[in-house]
Amino acid sequence: MSRFLNPMYASLAPYQPGEQPQGQNFIKLNTNENPYPPSPLVAKAVNNEIEWLQLYNDPTSSEVTMELARTLGVTPEQVMITNGSDEALAFIFQGLCPQGAVFADITYGFYPVYCQLYGVRPYVIPLREGFVLEPKDYYHGEGTVVLANPNAPTGLALSLKQIDGILSENVDNLVVVDEAYVDFGAETAVPLLKQYDNLMVVGTFSKSRSMAGARLGYVVSNPSLISDLQRIRFSFNPYNVNRMTQAAAIAALKDSLYFENCCKKIIDTRENTLETLERFGFETTDSEANFVFVRHPEIPGEILYKMLREEGILVRWFNLPRISNYLRISVGTDEQMNGLFCALEKIVNKTQ
Ligand SMILES: *Cc1c(COP(=O)(O)O)cnc(C)c1O
Repeated sequence: MSRFLNPMYASLAPYQPGEQPQGQNFIKLNTNENPYPPSPLVAKAVNNEIEWLQLYNDPTSSEVTMELARTLGVTPEQVMITNGSDEALAFIFQGLCPQGAVFADITYGFYPVYCQLYGVRPYVIPLREGFVLEPKDYYHGEGTVVLANPNAPTGLALSLKQIDGILSENVDNLVVVDEAYVDFGAETAVPLLKQYDNLMVVGTFSKSRSMAGARLGYVVSNPSLISDLQRIRFSFNPYNVNRMTQAAAIAALKDSLYFENCCKKIIDTRENTLETLERFGFETTDSEANFVFVRHPEIPGEILYKMLREEGILVRWFNLPRISNYLRISVGTDEQMNGLFCALEKIVNKTQ
């Protein structure tokens, strides 16, 4: 640490992304990326943008906004496009959590980091037995309620009715639903925007749209909350989403068939993965996401993680209370998962 750092940030514990090894031949199942490339239409659209790079990009991402609004069945005034959904979450923590933020003890690791960065008071609510999120624990919250649905890293989802309950018991609090994984089997809360003025839905193209490396996220809410967020965004970085990414997103939205097929394949592979791992003796959760969250009753999570790494397979292990014996394994292609099954079979036989 240099002597120039503002002491405010001296104790900041930054978010730790999963490993992103460059150039090595791992089966990479550690950061919930989509194993399939984006629609072929995306490559063409990105290529066409290159000759315009000398010009600034559209600061409101208006075409993406319109196309996405159409896809979601809302108006363009209800949508804001961001540089990945992490940026959307940052704006929300910075500007829309004046009383604090309420979230689960086991959820997306960025929420506590943004609390620290922006001086937001965190109210952490432990998940119940089996990592179940009990909606009642969030009624009359002490600030902005932030829910990942499906939750990460557990994969468990709330029903629309449960989200409705949390909204109706928090009429004076903003409720943010982070739907990074919603396309893999959960219900989106977007239709509830018709009924509630305290709802904000956050989404991303990183997982279900195969565009993690392009950085495109969004917020859907009512026009007045969106204009609050635009105020913050324009005070920080008006050109937040580059030309290639805007073009890529428009193309991705137009190829809905490709998108639906990818999601379907991942859901099938997930179900097969859960069955196979259960046969190997693993305990699993009912994941509605593009990852599974599993534990072996006899082999510690850290050992499994390290032995898989030696076999060339990267998964995510969190050295955190309650979940240190669990692995979060992204759903890859069937071929990648077969590689995982072979390695796990070997490891389980060796250690027992
Ligand atoms: C992956 C993820 C995000 C962030 O995704 P971006 O790549 O920044 O769009 C947000 N929330 C959750 C729960 C995630 O898992």
